[in-house]
Amino acid sequence: MIVTRFAPSPTGLLHLGHAFAALTAHEQAKGGTFLLRIEDIDAARAREEFVRAIAEDLAWLGLAWEQPVRRQSGHFDDYARALNQLDAKGVLYPCFCTRRDIAESADAPHGPEGPLYPGICRGLSSEDRAARMAAGAPYALRLDVARAVQHAGTLSFDERGHGPAGEAGVQVAHPEMLGDVVLARKEMPASYHLAVVVDDALQGVTLVTRGNDLFHATHIQRLLQALLGLPVPTYAHHRLILDERRKKFSKRDSAVTLKHLRESGVTPDQIRAMLVTSRSGP
Ligand code: GLU
Repeated sequence: MIVTRFAPSPTGLLHLGHAFAALTAHEQAKGGTFLLRIEDIDAARAREEFVRAIAEDLAWLGLAWEQPVRRQSGHFDDYARALNQLDAKGVLYPCFCTRRDIAESADAPHGPEGPLYPGICRGLSSEDRAARMAAGAPYALRLDVARAVQHAGTLSFDERGHGPAGEAGVQVAHPEMLGDVVLARKEMPASYHLAVVVDDALQGVTLVTRGNDLFHATHIQRLLQALLGLPVPTYAHHRLILDERRKKFSKRDSAVTLKHLRESGVTPDQIRAMLVTSRSGP
């Protein structure tokens, strides 16, 4: 049986792009299980009113989802366990850099989503790390991606959608593309990547449908699955719905929120029709 999910972050109202993602995940469950997951690990940005609005908007669109709804903020223990597992494999290191340290570093390599972490703290000695921690310096935990890849070997995932450059079929994972990603910080003890792989496995998700903007994330998530011994879902990345400037809709764009469209008298059928003819990107 297919298990899919729609996993919004409650940091704003849902817009047409979300409607497309939710309808796609629902449709691709093909009568199996469609889950709603609330990705609210970022306590500084997540708001209860948006959690309520998500349920209201999806119900209005005519979608039904399995209960209970998993809320990431209630599962930090699961993410901490996964982090400990990674630590035991020696693939994490503390990074004391500020954003400024990173921005000022001249030799930051570039990845598909911008500059990569230049590795400043990767080579610190254990004495140096211990001394900084003892002095109370704040730090994030980063994945040493080169070491992790060495551990995991060559990995691949099955792409049933298309990816930004039309990728389909078996994809070799290139997790080093995103560099040494942060997996935890003091104020946010689990990163998006970590929480997503843990949750997809715990919830038995078999098919991850999501926008092409997360295609690169799949490469690093595939590596985390291997390191954590988790099952690997199939992926179906879908096109992105774009506005008339050919930009992704933003949560600040109130004219295209489902709430606004509903209140202006637009029907769910009209939303579906708009999505079929909408501009879309890679
Ligand atoms: N929470 C993510 C977002 O709102 C989506 C996560 C995913 O589908 O993996 O962009």
